[in-house]
Amino acid sequence: MSRCLAERAIDHVVLERGEVAHTWRTERWDSLRLLTPNWQSRLPGFGYSGNDPDGYRTLPEVINFIASYARVTGAPVRTHTTVTSLRSTEAGYLVRTDQGDWRCRAVVVASGTCNIARVPTFASLVPPSIASLTAKEYRNPNQLADGGVLVVGASSSGTQIASEVHRSGRPVILSVGEHIRAPRVYRGKDLEWWMDAAGVLDERYDEVYDIARARRVPSLQLAGTPDRSTLDLNALTEIGVKLVGRLAGMTEDGKAQFAGSLRNMCALSDLKMGRLLDLIDKWAQENGLDDTGEPSYRLPATRVEAAPPLGLDLAAGNIKTIIWATGYRPDYSWLEVPALDRKGMMRHDGGVVCSPGMYLIGSQFLRRRKSALIDGAGDDAHDLSVHLASYLDNRVARVTA
Ligand SMILES: Cc1cc2nc3c(=O)[nH]c(=O)nc-3n(C[C@H](O)[C@H](O)[C@H](O)COP(=O)(O)OP(=O)(O)OC[C@H]3O[C@@H](n4cnc5c(N)ncnc54)[C@H](O)[C@@H]3O)c2cc1C
Repeated sequence: MSRCLAERAIDHVVLERGEVAHTWRTERWDSLRLLTPNWQSRLPGFGYSGNDPDGYRTLPEVINFIASYARVTGAPVRTHTTVTSLRSTEAGYLVRTDQGDWRCRAVVVASGTCNIARVPTFASLVPPSIASLTAKEYRNPNQLADGGVLVVGASSSGTQIASEVHRSGRPVILSVGEHIRAPRVYRGKDLEWWMDAAGVLDERYDEVYDIARARRVPSLQLAGTPDRSTLDLNALTEIGVKLVGRLAGMTEDGKAQFAGSLRNMCALSDLKMGRLLDLIDKWAQENGLDDTGEPSYRLPATRVEAAPPLGLDLAAGNIKTIIWATGYRPDYSWLEVPALDRKGMMRHDGGVVCSPGMYLIGSQFLRRRKSALIDGAGDDAHDLSVHLASYLDNRVARVTA
């Protein structure tokens, strides 16, 4: 956004509570690699120029990439400046920070949507003898006690953490809720390549049937590993991870209760994957790519045991740690503009917030399916900077009229 505002000669400042790339420095596990291939991390005027376009960036590489972008674009970043409140005034907005106040005519909220881990309320019933941590707090298996681990959530974070913890020698149970299965490589190309080429990632927020639902859909069950393998539930079952249903509750005496929906969840996920691959096949056929790569194929259905357990006495089952990979939500506790809905989410139309001169960027399906990816920021920033520039122009026109 800063780069797009600079292109339009709009005077601005970027306020950051930590260092540039703060979330990547402080809120990710050590072994994380991007699940998007190198070529796909495209920011305005700054793409991948190395010799491994199909590889996946390690955490230090992501930090370096974002920090380099800030340097190259000369973004006017004020680091170690925490915004403590934002309120509207007659002239625009008053931004209070721990380093003083700012007044501005327009404001872009780019504070992220994964600020707080979403953990079910019954997590408070986990017995004190069992460590409980979120995917944001997990760093590596060395921080865990010996013994069994229950990982809750089977999207990209949960499956990656379950795999790593299992490989450390700890027995892992994975509680599976709604998830979207996806092959890493399909017909010889990365799934992200197909979704990019076929226009799936460019699908607009005003084109989908139910945008509220689309914004809640979990991330694809993908991992970026050097061998480009598919990390789905079958792969986890093969290495010995035990699958159970969605964690539905916890009794006072520490017994976990799992939903009986595991088979349905997996069938639904297989079905959705099939639909995506059908769409890709159709696009490949229409665009003359049918004969160039591998023919169309489908992964075998997700294997689920006949009667997965519906309950588990955590202590008796030797569970020593629970890792919550159950999603995230934004932290708008500093926002004093009445722009949130009943669920605490920003009310906006494609990033144009209901409060004039206020914008949101970086959130799930903001303007396009790819909006929450690094690759989605550029197009959204372009669109929103056009809107913002015209808002400022109109405002000047109104004031001088
Ligand atoms: C586990 C995980 C894995 C991911 N993997 C991928 C991937 O493989 N590929 C991909 O494209 N995307 C991935 N993403 C999504 C990616 O993180 C987002 O696209 C990207 O972080 C959005 O950038 P952002 O700048 O909008 O938000 P953030 O990266 O969250 O940055 C927000 C910034 O605002 C700062 N901030 C927050 N509140 C305040 C305040 N009050 N005052 C001052 N500063 C504040 C924060 O310190 C932070 O630096 C992943 C996300 C997660 C959580």
